[in-house]
This record gives sequence, structure tokens and C-alpha cells, in this order.
Amino acid sequence: MAQTTPNHTQTVSGWAAHDSSGKIVPHTFKRRENGVNDVTIEILYCGICHTDIHHVKNDWGITMYPVVPGHEIIGLITKVGNNVSNFMIGDRVGVGCLAATCLECEFCKDSLENYCDQVQFTYNGVFWDGSITYGGYSTMLVADHRYVVHVPESLAPEAAAPLLCAGVTVFCPLKDNGMLESRGKKLGVVGLGGLGHMAVKFGKAFGHHVTVISTSPSKEQEAKGRLGADEFIVSTDPAQMKAKKRSLDLILDTVSANHSLGAYLELLKVKGALVIVGAPEKPMGLPSFPLIFGKRAVKGSMIGSIKETQEMMDLCGKHNITCDVEVIAPHQINEALDRLAKSDVRYRFVIDIKAAADANGNANASDS
Ligand code: NAP
Ligand code: ZN
Repeated sequence: MAQTTPNHTQTVSGWAAHDSSGKIVPHTFKRRENGVNDVTIEILYCGICHTDIHHVKNDWGITMYPVVPGHEIIGLITKVGNNVSNFMIGDRVGVGCLAATCLECEFCKDSLENYCDQVQFTYNGVFWDGSITYGGYSTMLVADHRYVVHVPESLAPEAAAPLLCAGVTVFCPLKDNGMLESRGKKLGVVGLGGLGHMAVKFGKAFGHHVTVISTSPSKEQEAKGRLGADEFIVSTDPAQMKAKKRSLDLILDTVSANHSLGAYLELLKVKGALVIVGAPEKPMGLPSFPLIFGKRAVKGSMIGSIKETQEMMDLCGKHNITCDVEVIAPHQINEALDRLAKSDVRYRFVIDIKAAADANGNANASDS
């Protein structure tokens, strides 16, 4: 669709999957000209979210191929539309999951546009002009300025990139459940991956007691050492799970794979809540007894609004909170996706787009 949209005249280099094998290959495509509400961004880094795997492999049955993934984007502004007053050329900015919303509904008006019924995402979405959106596994992005945030200069850009999705996705449920105002609560984090490790960092930064609930015993030392978690439970060990029954106020479930919730719910205190942010393709098992006997709640949460993303970014800038990343070159994306699928990353892969673009530019220059 995008290829036939009239003002999509800018040729961009990127990396895309063309079918459900999920294999990523170099891909050239078109982006729109910079419109009056747009900013053009030279992409420096882009994080690899597990959602990218769900999309390239068509786990959710909604992928429009070719798909250029990537919604943890950090870059520099190179063009600014006439209606844009809050960004300037040279600004360091971030783009997360949001590309367009209706701008008119109660959620858009209330700075909760991530819950707009017509939300369209940074990739695999359909923009206002009917074009399919392509994400940050690419050298350049044109984004409507209403879905762009400032990124504090004090943060290393590669370590800040995953804040745009992983960070804000766990920040919002912490905020919504009163974890920014009060201290000393018992927080559980299920799954120590990209989202999970940020939940641990935020939980500790906000003064809480954090328990990691993981399938990977090998992550215990690091979780307690580098990330500062207070406790670590191996979820496949029934004895460890039983010993921690009724101990937690809030659990964030970041697990990407199919799983049942019963055993995790038993870890909650009476009236505790479990917030699902992980998005396995199959429905989760939800037994009634742990809910009823503990007056417990299960909720969901999706990324965050632009206002919340900026709030989180500013907070991270103030307290120097960033993600633990492994920086890779674009030719390593497939290997990174394979390792991510096996939970073998500490804790987020981030693609160094600029270095690859520069090297490519230099190669082209020396070719000519
Ligand atoms: P990730 O880095 O792969 O982390 C997921 C973690 O889940 C793994 O590190 C692993 O932790 C645990 N896990 C994996 N397989 C498991 C299994 N079979 N049983 C129990 N635990 C298992 O992924 P991510 O990028 O953090 O994303 C996590 C999920 O959140 C994905 O489904 C993604 O699509 C979704 N997501 C949702 C939103 C939203 O807005 N709600 C935003 C971003 C991402 P351990 O080794 O510690 O067990
Ligand atoms: Zn994501």
C-alpha cells in the first residue's frame, strides 16, 4: 500500500521479514515526505522487543509482510514540519509504539491515546494516509510529532532506546498501582527479560522490595547483584513457590510464552493484583479459586501514553535509570532474535543503526 501512496517518495534502507520464517534481510522501502506535523529522524539505535519476534513470526496472525520491526527508536531530528514548535533540528528524540490515533476520542483527549480504539503502531500499522507503517530497523523515520518524546542528553542513547517500549510498559502499571507514591511494597516480577529487568530497576528505584519469579535459575546471581533484586524464586520449583504464598502486593507478569496464572496468583497477598503485560499467543489459564479465596485481581496494561513516556524518560534522566543492553550490528539481528527467543540476553539487544549506515555510506562513497 505504502509503495503507491503519492508522497511516499523517500527511499530508506532497512531490514525486514518477508514471511513467517521470521528471517530478517536488508530491505529498501519508501517513506512519506516530511509533512507539516512531522519530524524526520535519523535513527541511531533501535531496541529488539519480544513483540518483534511475535510479529516477524506472525504469532498473533496479524502480520502484514514485509514487516520492518522496531519500536524502541532513538535518533536525531533532521527536519521539522511547519506546525511543530516543540522540537528542533538536532534534538535527540525517541519514538515508541505509537504512530497514529484518532485525536478525538475520550482517551486521546485525556492523554491516554494508547487506549484509542483506532490506535496504529509504529510498524505493522496503517497510517492516516492509508500507508503501512515501517519501524525502526531502518536508517530514517518520519513521525508525527505528537508521538515523539525528548530523550535526556545525560542518558546513553543505546541504553535509553528500550525505555520507549520495555521501560514505559512496566512503568505504567507501577504508577497505576500506587508504587510511585508509596515505598516498601512487595513487588513480584515474573520473567526476567527486557521488560522484567526494567520492572526490577524501577521497583528498586521507587523503594520497594522486589522478588523475581523466573524459569532460569542461572539468572539469580545477576538479578540480586547487578539489578538489586531482594529475592529470587524459581517458578518451576513448587517448594519455592509454596514458601512464598501470600507474600506479594503486586505482580507484573512479563512472560512472552504460554503459561497458566494459578501458581503466580497464589503468591499474592489477599486483595493483591497481577498485571499482565506479556502477550503470549494463546489464552492463559485463569483458575477461579486463587482469585476468589484471595479477593485478587488480574488486569492488563499496554505500553504507555506519550505523556507517560515523557514522564518516565524525564524520571530516568533525573535518576540515571537505563536498560542493560547488548549492542549488535544489523547483520546480527537474526542471531539476536534466536537468542531472545531462548531468553538468552542480558537484557535487551539494541541495534546500532548509525554505525551500519555510516559504514554503508563509506562503502558507497569508496565504490563511486
Ligand atoms: P523477553 O526479553 O523475551 O522476556 C520474556 C521473559 O519471559 C524471558 O526472559 C523469560 O524470563 C520468561 N519466559 C520465557 N518463556 C517462558 C515460559 N515458557 N514460562 C515462563 N516464563 C518464560 O521479552 P520482552 O521483550 O520482555 O517481552 C515480554 C512480553 O511482553 C512479550 O510477549 C511482548 O510481546 C510483550 N510486550 C507487551 C507490551 C505491552 O504493552 N503490554 C509491550 C512490550 C512487550 P525467565 O528466564 O526469567 O523465566
Ligand atoms: Zn515492544
